[in-house]
Amino acid sequence: MKKVVLLGSTGSIGTSTVKVVQDLSDRLELVGLGAGGNVELLSEQIRTLKPLAASIGSEKNAARLRGEFGKSTQIYSGEEGLIKLATMPEADIVLISIVGTAGLKPALAAIRAGKDIALASKEVLVVAGEIVMNLARECGVNVLTVDSEHSAIFQCLEGSKPESVRRLILTASGGPFRNTPREQFPSITLDKALKHPSWVMGRKITLDSATLFNKGLEMIEARWLFNMGMEKVSVVVHPQSIVHSMVEFVDGSVLAQMSTPDMCLPIQYALTWPERVPSQRVKTHFSSIGTLTFEEADEERFPALRLARLAGLEGGTLPAVLNAANEVAVQAFIDGKIRFDQIATLVEKVMLAHTRIDRPTLEALLEADLWARKSAGLVTETLSKSKSAL
Ligand code: NDP
Repeated sequence: MKKVVLLGSTGSIGTSTVKVVQDLSDRLELVGLGAGGNVELLSEQIRTLKPLAASIGSEKNAARLRGEFGKSTQIYSGEEGLIKLATMPEADIVLISIVGTAGLKPALAAIRAGKDIALASKEVLVVAGEIVMNLARECGVNVLTVDSEHSAIFQCLEGSKPESVRRLILTASGGPFRNTPREQFPSITLDKALKHPSWVMGRKITLDSATLFNKGLEMIEARWLFNMGMEKVSVVVHPQSIVHSMVEFVDGSVLAQMSTPDMCLPIQYALTWPERVPSQRVKTHFSSIGTLTFEEADEERFPALRLARLAGLEGGTLPAVLNAANEVAVQAFIDGKIRFDQIATLVEKVMLAHTRIDRPTLEALLEADLWARKSAGLVTETLSKSKSAL
């Protein structure tokens, strides 16, 4: 039995992970569940899955759960609670699917406690990739990936020497605005941006997929996860989302990993690795898919890719700044303060205003994150005035 702690159990990845664990109940057991504010769903999950411990964002909700479950499940709260779960002596692996950077400290705590981690939260590697991967090497633990693109690359790379790789090719669906002319970008509404053509996901990642910031974050994530120079990480648009990503080797050979899109597949692979375990959940019918197409990403309409490449190449605190500014910008778009096309404008302005620190400590990264949030708030105010003046 592999014992799993799941941080972010109430989200899109979290609920898919619960399904995978239920499918493989003879191999996997959930011993810890962590959530933010969805106390109803967490309570239901505790009742069904009977974990040893659980954690919820606020102390008020924790008190309610303690009243409900007594001593049968230990209940914690807040960041401290997530860290308690991440370091539970019973856990073999900690899957982190918390949106944003709240998963970073629990990830580091889990690694220090000698646990393998499975990361859906790409922000953890975007902000502190070097620190996380170095610590994992020091502690001799595995950093597995739950992102479908990175899982694909991981599967294609297995058994290959790093020097045999020419480049990693991340595929992008292109999002809902792949064919939208540039002049229409200012009038893109929240409703339209939330309609992803191939995946059903949480709100933040769905909006990041519409701007292609998600792919930008994934480029930086790939750079750290596979220890490759940023120049070896490329993106191709593949609207059918069947090829999840590819690796091109130095002899020109390309390996791809394919399936119909279903996050249960990369989740299961991360949790059962190094084994490949039978599942009936994902079936791919090539004759009904028909055609697979590939095209260049348009960096004029989607500046996110250029900005992420720059952040990845320059490194230091810049990726943390890009990530934080993007989080603020996405929220400002949701709140109707800025237009869709201004998300990238805002991120670029904050990146340009930042004085980068090379080889930052964790504290410096967290400071850069805070600075970027404040700075993005100020830029939001300016842009929001120009928006209302239109
Ligand atoms: P959701 O918005 O659906 O879920 C987010 C989860 O994080 C929820 O369980 C939420 O709890 C929890 N959470 C948020 N803040 C906190 C906090 N401060 N403390 C504890 N828990 C918190 O997001 P997704 O599942 O879509 O995405 C999660 C991560 O996985 C993101 O980093 C995303 O980029 C990545 N990812 C997602 C994919 C997908 O298909 N969805 C694919 C690949 C990567 P609550 O709801 O209780 O507030």
